[in-house]
Amino acid sequence: MSQTVYSTSKAVATEAQADVELKHVVKLFNDEPAVRGLDLRVNQGEFFSILGPSGCGKTTTLRLIAGFETPTSGEVLIQGVNMSRTPAHRRPVNTVFQSYALFDHMSVKDNIGFGLKIKRMPSAQIRERVLDALKLVRMEAFADRLPTQLSGGQQQRVALARALVNRPAVMLLDEPLGALDLKLRKQMQVELSTLHRQLGITFIMVTHDQEEALSLSDRIAVMNAGQIEQIGTPSDIYDRPRTPFVADFIGDTNLMPGRIEGSRSGEKLHVVTETGLRVWIQAGGEHSREALSPSVVVSVRPEKVRLSQEPPTADNCYQGQVSHVMYLGTHVHWGVRLTSGEILTALQTNRGNALLTLDTPVYVYWGASDCRLLDSSSAPADAAV
Ligand code: ATP
Repeated sequence: MSQTVYSTSKAVATEAQADVELKHVVKLFNDEPAVRGLDLRVNQGEFFSILGPSGCGKTTTLRLIAGFETPTSGEVLIQGVNMSRTPAHRRPVNTVFQSYALFDHMSVKDNIGFGLKIKRMPSAQIRERVLDALKLVRMEAFADRLPTQLSGGQQQRVALARALVNRPAVMLLDEPLGALDLKLRKQMQVELSTLHRQLGITFIMVTHDQEEALSLSDRIAVMNAGQIEQIGTPSDIYDRPRTPFVADFIGDTNLMPGRIEGSRSGEKLHVVTETGLRVWIQAGGEHSREALSPSVVVSVRPEKVRLSQEPPTADNCYQGQVSHVMYLGTHVHWGVRLTSGEILTALQTNRGNALLTLDTPVYVYWGASDCRLLDSSSAPADAAV
């Protein structure tokens, strides 16, 4: 496929370059809100993921962009054009579904060319386009097979080719790798990323797999109960979550509700948790007393929590006993029951040291800059619909 048909320039986030825009979009099903007033801008050329738990409204959002659903209120714009009067088949988008939705009685090449045939494109042109699409997904050798004669990964490549043959401006991917086993899924993630880089078009992917979203996306929108909790780059979302929901949903974390009780020379904030732990946190930026309400949640990722049998020197250090040990090969996952009662988890690289046994007394510790303070009032209020 000639790649000049696709835009190859990577997007810069400017007002003019939004490829897909949702303005205050609400979708009700039988008076129940599935999407509650979404505002979203996806830039041209971005790999954008919508991530969230089951039932949070991800697929509905994608279907609203595709034109398979109509908003109850609000607008969907694609390349600056309001799509309210544009049916799905006239939108410059194509969708790849988790189920592939291939026709089992048609060969791979007929599956890929089917949409173009319906549009009455001349057959010589269809052949050329189908071959280009097959090359893109490295499936030229399988053109005459039936879908049932292909592996799951190969079927998914055909589904991708069938979407790409239309040369869409935007590819919509609904859990595209959801039906594949873990190893194949990892391989296909690399292929998807390569394809995106090669084509330079906008990809919008729905997934509930946080690792997939973190590894593939330029930006991620984390959804919860029909609303967006946070939009940001993978490192914004993982390292600087803004709400307890995002911190908890993306990766593992230890969450400890508490109150800001003081500060030390303006550099560190002092929080006392509900169980009476005193935690020091680096101040500055979002971590200022002015920016936060007194009621907060301390979040510390397990990989930041270290273990020692000797008393360490650290901003935050607590005594406890080993409550669980999970050997994961590359890592060891620990649970430590503190004397204050809570159990903190720690994730350590496996360096081949002997594993501590249950109930061994240990210290857990971390630095003031290793934890985040989240506003406990930041959970989204129910939006009026
Ligand atoms: P999953 O990851 O399980 O696919 P999701 O985040 O994609 O979930 P949606 O499929 O968008 O969630 O569904 C959001 C809410 O809207 C759910 O409560 C769902 O039951 C409801 N819903 C979706 N489609 C319809 C429909 N056609 N009719 C009625 N309710 C619907």
